[in-house]
Amino acid sequence: MAPDVAIIGAGFGGLCMAIQLERAGVGSYTVFEKADGLGGTWRDNSYPGAGCDIPSHLYSYSFEKYASWTRRYPEQPEILGYLEHCADKYRVRRKIRFGAEVRRAAFDGLKWRLTTANGTETFDVLVMGVGQLNRPRLPDIAGMSDFAGVSFHSARWNHDHDLTGRRVAVIGNGSSAAQLIPRVAERAERLYVFQRTPNWVIPKPDAAFSPLTRLALRYVPGLQRAYREWTYRYAEGALYPALAQGWSAGLLRQRALRHLHDQVADPALRAKLAPGYPPGCKRVVIDSAFYPALTRHNVEVVTDGIVRITPKGVQTADGTCEVDTIVYATGFRSTEFLAPMEITGLGGRSLEEQWKDGAEAYLGISVQNFPNMFLLYGPNTNLGHNSIIFMIECQVNHVMSCLPYLSANGPIEVRPEAMAAWRGQLDAAMERMVWGAGCQSWYKTDQGRVTNNWPGPTTLYRRLTARPPIPAYRLAE
Ligand code: NAP
Repeated sequence: MAPDVAIIGAGFGGLCMAIQLERAGVGSYTVFEKADGLGGTWRDNSYPGAGCDIPSHLYSYSFEKYASWTRRYPEQPEILGYLEHCADKYRVRRKIRFGAEVRRAAFDGLKWRLTTANGTETFDVLVMGVGQLNRPRLPDIAGMSDFAGVSFHSARWNHDHDLTGRRVAVIGNGSSAAQLIPRVAERAERLYVFQRTPNWVIPKPDAAFSPLTRLALRYVPGLQRAYREWTYRYAEGALYPALAQGWSAGLLRQRALRHLHDQVADPALRAKLAPGYPPGCKRVVIDSAFYPALTRHNVEVVTDGIVRITPKGVQTADGTCEVDTIVYATGFRSTEFLAPMEITGLGGRSLEEQWKDGAEAYLGISVQNFPNMFLLYGPNTNLGHNSIIFMIECQVNHVMSCLPYLSANGPIEVRPEAMAAWRGQLDAAMERMVWGAGCQSWYKTDQGRVTNNWPGPTTLYRRLTARPPIPAYRLAE
């Protein structure tokens, strides 16, 4: 009999899982989604300029190529439209329970008991599709609640607040800030960008597809597949070695420095924007509009440390920048995987306690002591160079290949030996990666352990997740 599967989250991960179950004829699943719409991060992040710096045709499911992309790099509304299209085409929308936040998940020895505001239900299998960047992180700056103007996080954009003619502060300069700053700068009277650490920036060769290209991508057999394959191979062949401090690391640095020189003429501003750590240590910003926005007459890059927020604005050691709007583009609570759900496994063991030194999972998918629970986009599966949708599809394939075994035999958990071997491989691979090279980033815990990123080529990850899974698992006791 097919297992009852609970999927948490209706973003790219949860939808992929639901679609593959549907395609396999397994109808016994429910998707729990805390919001009132699908899309996950692509529903939450609707700030002006929101989009993806991975090419459209690669930032999509391999089984659902899409001829409707209008640009080389997709913007948020188009990505959300793609996900809505997939949910309808594969008939999974009817299985999504919106407004259903799972607060607790407890394994009772045989099944998972899920608690929502509406009560408790049991399932055989639990698939977590909540992502890594789903909980905005507001900074801990003194006086934030005293601010007399309007403030919000980039992932909770206040669309009712018109920025035309305003004095605005943007705190942060990561990928989100880089995308929204050019749009805000066009409207605001004055924009202060508070930069704590500079980021490496490379150009994004974005353009709308011409009508002819769109027709060709739609109708020429194999063209879309070939284009997708080419963008995948480029990311894998040229960008991954840069992060592994291999042959292209120097080229990436040169490209970023040239971009800075080409777009910023003022040496003082250039000096402020030049990072002092190797490219890739923090996520490289891929954007062609960010630097030009910073050179506008109405924009100032402030590098003095923020002392406090006052009712009138942002105070630094040098004075106060008076503003009426503060945008916190300060990122996400990325290392707190699965929080704030309370999750207990075998013998009532708390996942939060087990992960107190940092989250970990076999293949980023399975956690010792938590049988029949599978994570999508879990620990050590994020990428700084290629499409995360590729990783999610590998993970869903792995879960699909576990299902027949666990439904025939009972709950399975990852073997301690398999987990120990995985940990050893990760640690060894991590040593050559650039993420440890003297920077802080959302990829790692405050103690410096990289819990978010996958340190190998994605081709290797695909091989590892395609292996028959069962030797790495045992029946849960
Ligand atoms: P982020 O990369 O974590 O950036 C947060 C920014 O806020 C950093 O500049 C950080 O400075 C700053 N910050 C945090 N706390 C601060 C404080 N107390 N005072 C001053 N500055 C503070 O977050 P994000 O920009 O939202 O991006 C997160 C990730 O989402 C990206 O790396 C990317 O993977 C993904 N994303 C992707 C795209 C895309 O195009 N694919 C677009 C947007 C986001 P420090 O650097 O000094 O910590």
